[in-house]
Amino acid sequence: MVALKDPSLFRTQNFIGGEWVDADDGAVVAVNNPATLETLGTVPKAGKAETARAIAAADIAFPAWRRKTAKERALVLRRFADLMMANQDDLALLMTAEQGKPLAESKGEIAYAAAFLEWFGEEAKRIYGETIPSHAADKRLIVMKEPVGVVAAITPWNFPAAMITRKIGPALAAGCTVVVKPATQTPYSALALAELGVRAGLPAGTLNVVTGAATAIGGEMTANPTVRKLTFTGSTEIGKLLMAQCAGTVKKVSLELGGNAPFIVFDDADLDAAVEGAIASKFRNTGQTCVCANRLLVQDGVYDAFAEKLGRAVAALKVGNGVEPGVTQGPLIDMKAVAKVEEHIADALAKGARIATGGKRHALGASFFEPTVLTGVTPAMAVAREETFGPLAPLFRFSDEEQAIRMANDTEFGLASYFYARDVGRIFRVGEALEYGIVGVNTGLISTEVAPFGGVKESGIGREGSSHGIDDYVEMKYLCLGGI
Ligand code: ADP
Repeated sequence: MVALKDPSLFRTQNFIGGEWVDADDGAVVAVNNPATLETLGTVPKAGKAETARAIAAADIAFPAWRRKTAKERALVLRRFADLMMANQDDLALLMTAEQGKPLAESKGEIAYAAAFLEWFGEEAKRIYGETIPSHAADKRLIVMKEPVGVVAAITPWNFPAAMITRKIGPALAAGCTVVVKPATQTPYSALALAELGVRAGLPAGTLNVVTGAATAIGGEMTANPTVRKLTFTGSTEIGKLLMAQCAGTVKKVSLELGGNAPFIVFDDADLDAAVEGAIASKFRNTGQTCVCANRLLVQDGVYDAFAEKLGRAVAALKVGNGVEPGVTQGPLIDMKAVAKVEEHIADALAKGARIATGGKRHALGASFFEPTVLTGVTPAMAVAREETFGPLAPLFRFSDEEQAIRMANDTEFGLASYFYARDVGRIFRVGEALEYGIVGVNTGLISTEVAPFGGVKESGIGREGSSHGIDDYVEMKYLCLGGI
């Protein structure tokens, strides 16, 4: 249980067709606080039948919701965003309790999440069609944009609120209705959003939340022909599986999958700024974001100086329960996550890397881990290929620009990348050569609702945020008017 100013935000049931409901058989799953290991409560362990009902409810709600004017939908989204901000403290507490991130990061995420509702509410009014100069004197050609229909959204635990609002924001703005399956570890943030959606004026069935058995829920979402679009953020492995499952009913898919972000520090970089950016990019959410730097590539001439400065900054990070003041590093989500970090460290050490700072489980126990910097890391090590998703900064060495670009692009992933340099020619050359959907130049922080977020290669399909984010939720319809 989390002590909230407004206890009615702590919802422990599913939300289907405007009703708070349990699983058909009453089954539940426990939700734990990763910092204290205490059980916060339970949520329904729903499956196929409950998901099918939620999809049916979204289908029933769809015609009336799409018929509303853009301004009417925008007003609801505006109120929804305002309610998130009015309840920012409670939502942040709930998030830190189930996810572990420091309270300041949780508050930041609530503001970021609310911004997607605000932004897409505004964009709802600008879903313009077109008229096309005709190919025939007696014809007029018009393109209209229409909502795709019922949307299914599957979201991860690392951003329990923002990954939901950047899907439901554009979906609801476009006139779609939605069924959300949040991550099993972080359902309470999602259920609190459903409660606020109701208060904002979302009609019954427009937003539904189903928790429980991922395979059963995902199976129904991908097989049910009423669902016209699946939007997913999570691992590449599950994304590929869901994409294949969607083939049977040819659904539209948007996928935000894994990354293997390079963070390149060139000789001409401002080293202090690069250290600050590396901390922001690598250690946010204890290294558990899909845009976290995974490989730090540092040029020969500044390698030792950068390693020394970064090691000092990382050693100063404060690890602890996210509700305690000053804590910047919470626990990892679970022990499986700890095992992955340990594997990467052991593999690197066995192949010749050295520990600059950290390197082992934290004295606090549970899934706390020491923020770690490794030097002497090479492409032969596992960390070069796989996303660590933890507080481990591996420092690779390169000698020239061409080698840095080659190393950076040597991965099947292509989500975020970063580099620090001052020479303007280099900034354009490297910015254009990186095979990534996002490039941070002299900054470690790239996420905002106003810019398109998404990956190339095996990192995904589609973009979230920005004026383009709504495209994934609309279909084009071409009207050919003859006999004019
Ligand atoms: P992570 O390793 O970060 O937990 P996942 O891809 O496993 O990433 O999880 C992301 C989301 O996908 C979560 O909501 C999870 O419950 C869900 N998920 C996992 N497996 C499946 C599946 N087979 N079908 C549908 N959803 C799934």
